[in-house]
Amino acid sequence: MYYKVSKDTVVYAMSAHNKPVVTVDAPARIQFETWDCFSGQIQLDNAKFDGVDWNCINPATGPVYINGAEEGDILAVTIDKIETAEAGIVVCGKGVSVAGDSLQRSIKVVPVKNNTALFSERLHLPLTKMIGVIGTAPKSGEVSCAIPDMHGGNMDCKEIKEGATLLLPVNVPGALLAMGDLHAVMADGEVGGSGLEISGCITVSVKVIKGITAPLPMLFNNTHVMTIASDEDLDKAVELAVSNMVTYLSSAGSFTREEAIMLCSLVADARICQVVDPKKTIRVELAKKYLPEGINLVF
Ligand code: CA
Ligand code: ZN
Repeated sequence: MYYKVSKDTVVYAMSAHNKPVVTVDAPARIQFETWDCFSGQIQLDNAKFDGVDWNCINPATGPVYINGAEEGDILAVTIDKIETAEAGIVVCGKGVSVAGDSLQRSIKVVPVKNNTALFSERLHLPLTKMIGVIGTAPKSGEVSCAIPDMHGGNMDCKEIKEGATLLLPVNVPGALLAMGDLHAVMADGEVGGSGLEISGCITVSVKVIKGITAPLPMLFNNTHVMTIASDEDLDKAVELAVSNMVTYLSSAGSFTREEAIMLCSLVADARICQVVDPKKTIRVELAKKYLPEGINLVF
C-alpha cells in the first residue's frame, strides 16, 4: 500500500503520546512531505534570523502508526527516494558552529539546480541528499527532535540516504515513525552547525521484523553495515557505537567479543556523523563482506 503524510502535521518531540496522523499496514510505502529544520520560517528571498521561533525548529512530519508493530520489534525503514526543493539554507555562528566564538550569526541561501548546490558561481557542489531527523517514539517521556538517541532522532548521519535501510526500535505500539530535516548536502561532522537545510519529500518502505534483537539504531547499504550511537560526550558515543558493533558481530555465535573488536580495529571505520547537536553522533562502518557466518540480521 502507498500512503502520503503531509507536512501540515509535524511534531517537535518524539513521544508515545503523539497522536498518529496516518495509520499504515506494513509492509508499506510512505511518502513524507517535510519542512526544512526551521519549519520554513526563514524566507529564501530575504533570509534573516529575526523573528525565528527557536521552539519551532527540527520539525518531523508524522507520526505514522504502523499496524502490528509491537514493543520489542524492529522497524526497518528503507529510503527509496529523497526529493529536495529548489533552494536551501546554510547557517553558522556563535553557539551554532564548532569554534564559533568569533563568528557572526550568518545565513546563506544556496540554490539547487541539476543535482548540484550552487554555493558560489564557481563552486557547484554535488548533492548528498540525506535525512537529518528520523525516529520512533522513545519508551517513555518525550525526546526533542533536536536530540539524537537510541530511538533515532536528530542523528544527522550522511549515510541515511537513498538506498539505505535504517533499523529503529519499536518502543511503543505502532512505533510512531516521524521524519524531517532534509539536508541537500552535508559532510561528516556538520561543523558549521547545519547542512544545506531544505524542504522536500521522502519516500520510504517500512517493514516490521519480529523475534530478533539488535543494538539499534543500525544502518545498512549495498556494501556496509553501520551502528550509530549518540551521547553528550563524543568519547562515550564512540564507545557505544563500537560496543554495539561488537555486540552485533558476536550475536551469531561464531565470533567472540574479542575477535569482533579485533576485526573492527582492522577493517571497521569509526566516523563522526555530527558534533553540533545536544548529543554527538558516531557511526561504525563495516564492509558486509567481513560479516561472520550465520549472522541473522542483514539487509
Ligand atoms: Ca539536524
Ligand atoms: Zn538539518
